[in-house]
Amino acid sequence: MNIYITLDYEIYFGENHGTVEKCIIYPTSELMRIGEKHNVRFVFFVDCGFILKLDEYRKKYPQLEKDYELITSQVKQLSAAGHDIQLHIHPHWEDSFYNGERWVIDVKRYKLSDFNEHEISEIVTRYKKVLTDLTNKKIFAYRAGGWCLQPFSKLKKAFVENDISLDSSVFRNGFFETQQYAYDFRNAPDKDLYKFEDDVIVENKNGFFTELPISPIRNSPLFFWKLFLLGRKNPYLHKPLGDGRAMAAPGYRKKLLTRFTNNPVSVDGYNANLLQKALNKFQRKKLKHMVVIGHPKALSRYSIEKIEEFVVKNKTQHNFTTFEKEFLK
Ligand SMILES: [Zn+2]
Repeated sequence: MNIYITLDYEIYFGENHGTVEKCIIYPTSELMRIGEKHNVRFVFFVDCGFILKLDEYRKKYPQLEKDYELITSQVKQLSAAGHDIQLHIHPHWEDSFYNGERWVIDVKRYKLSDFNEHEISEIVTRYKKVLTDLTNKKIFAYRAGGWCLQPFSKLKKAFVENDISLDSSVFRNGFFETQQYAYDFRNAPDKDLYKFEDDVIVENKNGFFTELPISPIRNSPLFFWKLFLLGRKNPYLHKPLGDGRAMAAPGYRKKLLTRFTNNPVSVDGYNANLLQKALNKFQRKKLKHMVVIGHPKALSRYSIEKIEEFVVKNKTQHNFTTFEKEFLK
């Protein structure tokens, strides 16, 4: 099976956004160490809106110069080492600013579809260019910020114009709607790869776009009780390495703790405990692709150990790979 470990490379978007060192640089350097040691490569979906903002404000606020340098040089380093750098858009950066002390993050337009088609085209073009300039490689794959890419028909033109032909944002049965978020993957095809055209959850064999969905998993409430309790009991091992807080998602935590939920297979924190179980299940189903999501900021010492263990156990039998290697023609 092809196994893609994908990381959304970003700071936090809550009141406390955290530091670049702890949310991004250090956890990513741990992944690079594992990649180097075991000769496997990962996919990084880089939040390029943040890089654009750092670039905009670093002349006025020299303290941001360091963050800009850290991120741009790590992205170049990742790319040079053979990790895949691809596009991750959080368009709320358009409305956010630095006040001299911290980022003031405005999420009232959190989804790309909150902008008009002209603005969407302009954003996708400008954000993609950041990564092309840093890597000198073809950027052709996309992961939507907060999984929000519906209605896709509104984004389609911008993606065609920019030759973004592969998406990896859907996880089957995922569903969440609040003021900011909106995604509904409840009717997504039960497949590990399909073509689509106007609607990201409707297969269209002649479609321009390919969907490589994030592998889905169903979690019991007990799993999340355990996850939260371990965080309290042994924070050294189980607390996220990132030092910020996620943006508010009203009702989300309660939902996880009270009923079965559909989630993406993840390397974040205690979720990494389920990697092997998920792989075994996909093997029984004879799937060809397993896509795992994660965030450097949400990795813990525990999950980093688990990722390494998972790689060591499976690297001879399976193919740890990137989108560039498998899909770029
Ligand atoms: Zn993101």
